[in-house]
Parts: sequence; structure tokens; C-alpha cells
Amino acid sequence: MSKGKINVSVENIFPLIKKFLYSDHEIFLRELISNATDATLKLKHLSNLGESIGELGDPIIEIKLDKENKTLHIIDQGIGMTSEEVKKYINQVAFSGAEEFLEKYKDSAADSGIIGHFGLGFYSAFMVAEKVELITKSFKDEPAAHWTCDGSPEFTLETHNKTERGTEIILHIVDDSVEFLENAKITELLNKYNKFMPVAIKFGTKEETLPIPEGAAEGTEADKVTVDNIVNNPNPAWTQQPADLKEEDYKSFYRELYPTQFEEPLFNIHLNVDYPFNLTGILYFPKLSNDLNIQKDKIQLYQNQVFVTDNVEGIVPEFLTMLRGVIDSPDIPLNVSRSYLQADGAVKKISNYITRKVADKLTSLFKKDRAAFEQKWNDIKVVIEYGMLSEDKFFEKSDKFALYPTVNGTYFTFEELKEATKDLQTDKDEKLIVLYASNKDEQHSYIEAAKEKGYQVLLLDSPIVPHLIQKLESTHEKISFARVDGDAIDNLIKKDEVTVSKLSDEDKEALTPLIEEVIPKEKYTIQLEALSSSQLPFVLTQPEFMRRMKEMQQTGGGGGMFGNFPEMYTLVVNTNHPLVSQILSTKTKKKRERLIQQTLDLARLSQNLLKGEELTQFIVRSVDLIK
Ligand code: ADP
Repeated sequence: MSKGKINVSVENIFPLIKKFLYSDHEIFLRELISNATDATLKLKHLSNLGESIGELGDPIIEIKLDKENKTLHIIDQGIGMTSEEVKKYINQVAFSGAEEFLEKYKDSAADSGIIGHFGLGFYSAFMVAEKVELITKSFKDEPAAHWTCDGSPEFTLETHNKTERGTEIILHIVDDSVEFLENAKITELLNKYNKFMPVAIKFGTKEETLPIPEGAAEGTEADKVTVDNIVNNPNPAWTQQPADLKEEDYKSFYRELYPTQFEEPLFNIHLNVDYPFNLTGILYFPKLSNDLNIQKDKIQLYQNQVFVTDNVEGIVPEFLTMLRGVIDSPDIPLNVSRSYLQADGAVKKISNYITRKVADKLTSLFKKDRAAFEQKWNDIKVVIEYGMLSEDKFFEKSDKFALYPTVNGTYFTFEELKEATKDLQTDKDEKLIVLYASNKDEQHSYIEAAKEKGYQVLLLDSPIVPHLIQKLESTHEKISFARVDGDAIDNLIKKDEVTVSKLSDEDKEALTPLIEEVIPKEKYTIQLEALSSSQLPFVLTQPEFMRRMKEMQQTGGGGGMFGNFPEMYTLVVNTNHPLVSQILSTKTKKKRERLIQQTLDLARLSQNLLKGEELTQFIVRSVDLIK
């Protein structure tokens, strides 16, 4: 037996490890299972190279709990270590043997999936253990070694009678960490970090019911057998080739990832690159409407099948963080701050790659089956519109698949939209005016009026639409968006509308002061227009720019300058409407005022602006009128 002192610069590093190194104590298990996985993969690799390692078998990793002795065991059947290797690899803190291994077998090991680079690895065991034992037998013909360390830099190393190849780590769990002696806790951790690790992990046993053999007598009971409880899937879908996977495989992997998710994903994107960086993964577009699991079910980041985090901020472009799925890349630096991550060249490339793949997938879905794509539009538009706003590269590509639905349920691409509107919807400067509604019910009367004239009215109802419109206007020349109930529609109406007014100039002059007697000038600007008599007598419009500024402010951005701006409306008085003639001819002041008030309230009602006491008064007045 030999004794020694671990060569570390700080006298007692273990309390430091315990307190400061990792905020998440639970990751010790991930680190130790990663080591066990490495040891197993190394062995397989050597076997593939034809080195004599004895019988390879089908090595698994086993996790065992011994509540009585307060120990947790991590047992592998991997490469093992000789005494010399224990001294070298275990006693030199943070000495990464994995790195040395990689160096040695550089070219051939590149695709053997060796984990490492997780930092302190093995020593994270001291976050939860007061004493750690390591019993290991190398694949080489040498006696097994037994290393023990009680949390001080002192260790002992002696031989052991273990004969099977591999390593067993025994953690003597410290009193403040007894939660790690609970079955449920270990199951939870295995499920979180190790669910897709490449070597089978056994935790306990389970009963399995065998199928009743064919032709068995009626009433035969099924036999039960006890089998290993394997907690992971070593070959998750993302590690396989897209060509080998069917639609159903992607769906069942989705269920495996999010067992509580009952809604099926809309479609998926398989990521697979190895140059200039290494990345695999599958992203899913979920149905986002009414989904309460958005916060919970997020994209998961793995490194070589080891779960790292589900906070992918900075790695995946922000607009895609609403998606679900997995990305796995050994090229993402992990022990760095988020801001460093965002500045990192490799990470930037990864983020751009993901954006491009998503755009390509959307383009191909659109081309392959447009009708199906249109059907999905409502569920995916938020992501796409957000992407168009936030990523210029995505915006450039979006012309190929971004859709603009009309209130009638027709879907246009931007090009088609221009084509469909160019004849009717230009103003006197030949500028294209794209009409849109944000709420079919609230703007119903305006939509109907516009439709009657043959105009196309889009239905743009996502919350970020005001920003998107701004962006579209600034990138496409000679195109301007106008909400159907806004004032810009006047520019169109004038072009092809009856311009002959039924009222004489004198009447018109008399009309404005009459109306101004009743309605507050600070709120309404009166404008006389000769509209068709089928339109309302009074129509309220709001200056497009002002409404947009306000909306943008509500969804963030837009500056503060319109914050306290009073509500201002243009009151368009339809001089061709009989009711307006009636206002002029009513001589009794009281009667006339009531008529004006009522007509104004009707206009406000059609815009959903009449509320509370004013609405009550309107109803009382209407009842009076009918009487
Ligand atoms: P890393 O895994 O980053 O190299 P660790 O401190 O976790 O760092 O481990 C140090 C070294 O100890 C490993 O590189 C490996 O050579 C050796 N080692 C650790 N655990 C095992 C194990 N279960 N089987 C064989 N070797 C191991």
C-alpha cells in the first residue's frame, strides 16, 4: 500500500470544490457517468483497432444504491486503470486523461464520441461524498488498484482482488447530501442528464410480462421475468442518419423527449453538419397557439449525448427558442459566460447555420405542398414573423415562404400580393397601398366597405405586426400598409368614388359648425366627403402613423414620444348620406343635437370605441328614438 499527497497548489482544495465550483451539486453524477462512458467507448475503440483487450462483451454501466452503508456506486466495464494510471490520472487534479487519449489516437478517435472537457470531472464527487473509493482493473494484465480519499489531499493506494475489467467508484455520501441516496432522486437525475447517453445504464431491475404463447390454454397467466432496468436510449434519433428515419421515428422521439406533451409537432428539421463545426440535432415546430408548455418544454443542449442545459440562449437565434428538440455539439464552449458565448465565432456560425436550415426547411415545405403549408401558417407565423424582424438573413429568405392571408382566407406571398393589388390599390403617387385588418370583428364594417370596392384586405393579427409592417415598408419601395379603418384608405376611396356631392356648397359650409356644436373639437377633426350613400353617415378614422406608434409602444419599442398623446380621430362626414341631409334640415336645436350625437355614437360603436356610461346613454337614447 502506498500513501501520498495529491499535488494541488491550494492546501485543501476539496472544501473549495464543494462550495464554489459548481452551483449544481447534482452534476457529479453526470460527470462520473461521463467518465464511465468514456472508459467504455475507449475500450470499444481499442477493440476496433484490434488491440488485445480480452472479451469485449456488451459492456454496460450500473448505478447502485446502498442505503444502509450510505453509499452510491458507479460501476463500468470499461478500459480500467493500472496503479500507475490512477496515480497519473486521478492524483493530478484536472489532468485530463481524455485529452491525452485523444492526442494519442487523434485521427482514429475523432469519431468515437469521447466525452471530456467537462472540467474537474472526477473530483466533483467530493461535492456530495465525504469519502471516495475507486476500485479499478485495467484491461492490461495487471492487478486491480484500490484508491481511497477522505476529502483531504491525502490518499491511499493499494492492490485489490477485483478480477473483472472496469472501474467501480464508491461514494460515501455526506450527511447534508443524503437526498442522493433516494431512488427517486437518482432516477430523476438519470432521466435529466443521461437519458440519451451512448452506453446502456442499468439502475435496478424491473418485472416484465412475457407474451402468452400462441395456442396456450385459455386462462393461462402470462409469465413474468425480472430484467435489468435500462434507463437510457443509447441511440437517440438525432444520432442517426436522416435517410434511416421515418416520419414516425421523429414523432416517437418527440414523445420520448417530452413525455407530457400530447400535441404532435407540426414538422421537424434534422440538423447534421461536421464542417466547419460539429453539430447534430432535431428541431421541432410545435403548435404554438394555446400551448401552455412553452416555458417548460424547451430545446435541450447536449454534448456527445450528455445533457448540458435547456437554456440555449445565445446559441440558438432568439426567434427559434420557441421551438423544441435537441442540439448536440462538442464545439460549444460551456464554462463561459453568456456574453462571451454570443461573441464567440464558432457559436455565431452555429447560430447562422440553424437559421439557414430553418429557412431552407420552410422553403421546401412551401414548395412541396403549399396547401398543407397554408394550413399550418397560423401556428407557425409568430416564429416566422419574429424571425423576419430580428434576423436579416432570415428576412431575405422569407420572401419564398412568408404568407399574407386575406380576410377571405386566401394566402398570398409578397410577390403575389403586389400582383393582386397593383391595379386597384395605388394612390395618386403610384404607391401601392396594402390594406389590412387586425381584428375581423371589430373592423367588420370597414372590411365590408373595402371588399365592396374590390380591394384585398389582409388579416394580420399577430402582436408584432406593427413592427413587421414598418420593416416591410422600409425594405420595399413604393409600398405602404394601411389599416382598413385608418385614414390612408381615403386616398384610395377618392380615386374611384363618386366625387359629386349631393349637398350644395352653402349647405356644406353650414354643416361643419352645426356638428362642432355637439362634438369636442380637440378630439375630432371634421372632414366632409362625398362617399356612397350605402356607407355610414359618419365614419371615424385614426391617422395611421399615430395608431401604429401607439401599438408599437405597447409591444415594446417605438420610443416614448407618443406615450401621452391624446386619442385623435378624423370624423368623415358622408355628405351623400340621407341622414346628413336630415341633420341640416332639422330646425329644432335639441332634436338636431341628438341626431348628431346618435350618428357619432353609431360610428364609435362600429369601431368598438363606445364603452361604459357612454354606451348606456347611447342605448337609452336609441330606445327613446324607436319609441
Ligand atoms: P476528464 O474526464 O475531463 O479527463 P476527470 O478528472 O473526470 O477528467 O478524469 C481524469 C482521468 O481519469 C480521465 O481522463 C480518465 O483517464 C481517468 N478516469 C476517470 N474515471 C475513469 C473510469 N471510470 N475508468 C477509467 N478511467 C477513468
